[in-house]
Amino acid sequence: MQHRCNDCHMPYTIHKDLVHNTLDKMTKKGWEYYDFKCPHCKKTNRIPKEQLVHAAPTWEYEAEE
Ligand SMILES: [Zn+2]
Repeated sequence: MQHRCNDCHMPYTIHKDLVHNTLDKMTKKGWEYYDFKCPHCKKTNRIPKEQLVHAAPTWEYEAEE
């Protein structure tokens, strides 16, 4: 997915695998937001789970146990 940094306004790509891994982690922990770090200015960008789910329509939570 493409995300535009809230701070420096430079767009950057969050790889699909990372989106999927992050959604797994968030679902397990019950988090509604995740803090991604901008590769340009290193500032934290808080992205809501809803936006990640929208960017990964094939994602489904698979419980490990
Ligand atoms: Zn930035």
